[in-house]
Amino acid sequence: MNRLGVRLASLAAVVALVVGLLFRPAWAGGLTRSSLPAFSYPFSGLPLVRYDGGTTKQVGSYNFPVSTNIAGVYMTLEPGAIRELHWHAMAAEWAYVIEGRTRITLTSPEGEVQIADVDQGGLWYFPRGWGHSIEGIGPGTAKFLLVFNNGAFKEGSTFSITDWLAHTPATWVAQNLGLTAKQVDQLPKEQVYISRRPPAPGPLSDTKPRAAGVKPLNESHVFDLTTQPKQEMRGGSFFQLASAKQFPASFNMTGAILHLEPGAMRAMHWHPNADEWQYVLNGSYDLSVFASEGQARVSSLKQGDVAYVPRGYGHALRNTSKGPTDVLVVFNDGDYQSINLNDWLATNPTSVVANNLQIPQSLSDQLPEANTDFIPQ
Ligand code: MN
Ligand code: MN
Repeated sequence: MNRLGVRLASLAAVVALVVGLLFRPAWAGGLTRSSLPAFSYPFSGLPLVRYDGGTTKQVGSYNFPVSTNIAGVYMTLEPGAIRELHWHAMAAEWAYVIEGRTRITLTSPEGEVQIADVDQGGLWYFPRGWGHSIEGIGPGTAKFLLVFNNGAFKEGSTFSITDWLAHTPATWVAQNLGLTAKQVDQLPKEQVYISRRPPAPGPLSDTKPRAAGVKPLNESHVFDLTTQPKQEMRGGSFFQLASAKQFPASFNMTGAILHLEPGAMRAMHWHPNADEWQYVLNGSYDLSVFASEGQARVSSLKQGDVAYVPRGYGHALRNTSKGPTDVLVVFNDGDYQSINLNDWLATNPTSVVANNLQIPQSLSDQLPEANTDFIPQ
């Protein structure tokens, strides 16, 4: 480099330094950048939409913008109420029963059916486009969460049987169903959505398809999460997992219960392959999300709230309540993958860690060597 080149280079360095100081981003070194979207949504405060026989409310990218790939619906059904026969064109439906008892009827494109009771702690998985219905069978109100692998999903834009029949010419419906015009006139004139006609349905053993010879589905689309082993019981905190490994029908979604003892952390980690949707079943916690480029944000959640962590974003949870906290976590991939910060550090040579973190080797030796999902208080 000649003399002019050196001068220009040092001038450029000075300019870069001044520009860097003048335009040093406000979030540098801090935790929050105001332009970062909210990773939590106060779903607990959203009012329920009421029907005769049930209630519902929904959260997706329309009211929770960061949640681009997953939407959720909270629903209740009284005994004898039915969420009518319908399908979803744009998403699969994964569900968790919070309380009470439900009965699902699921029909495949091959005309096979599964009729099953799903109680508290139970799951179901309805593939995109398959016909289904849900009943509240009592005793008490059934409360459940529906999780869809499409952030724009809206419960109102599902394809309901009464909506279809009411908006098809009556003569066509009569021909299709083999009914008279007068009989067709008895059908609902608009979408029913939730219908309630007590009494509650009888035992499952007395319930069968209308037609004889209908085959049952080969593979079960319901799953009891409560029977799953409690993994990583560190300090009493654990998780129960239902990935496609445990629940094969749910090939592109995974769910888990995360149980955190007071003060305990779900250790810093990320998921290489999936977005994460969280619902607070009980208790409260803080969620820390790292979005790269110096951007991060801590959110506080309480029972009934929802959070969303985009694929690959670093995050951790910390129980802030006096008692245990249970979180339902759902991923839009059937393969559960996660990398813990501590595990990552443990797999690297000491020299790499000490050099990278700019600490003496004696300090890097103190870092954890074992993989841990939970860190007690
Ligand atoms: Mn549905
Ligand atoms: Mn996670």
